[in-house]
Amino acid sequence: MSDAPICTHLDTVEVTDVPTRAAVPGCEECLKIGGRWLHLRVCRTCGKVGCCDSSPNKHASAHAGAEGHPILSSIEPGEDWSWCVVDEVGFVLD
Ligand SMILES: [Zn+2]
Ligand SMILES: [Zn+2]
Ligand SMILES: [Zn+2]
Repeated sequence: MSDAPICTHLDTVEVTDVPTRAAVPGCEECLKIGGRWLHLRVCRTCGKVGCCDSSPNKHASAHAGAEGHPILSSIEPGEDWSWCVVDEVGFVLD
């Protein structure tokens, strides 16, 4: 087991099947507006895919803040970390 994450929002995690990067077309919001993204994150509460904070539109964090869905996970190949935008702490789930 990994160290217990310092996050009080683990009960918001509803999405257990994180998609692979290859399985998603891209950031949902960027695709709507013709935007560009760098890396992709998935919301662990509802499964929405958004772009990372290094992307121009930061849709993943924007979604987390707007919807109150605090935990995002990277879906980039080889990355298995998650991030709580409220606690600002990273950890690995499972
Ligand atoms: Zn948290
Ligand atoms: Zn985006
Ligand atoms: Zn969400």
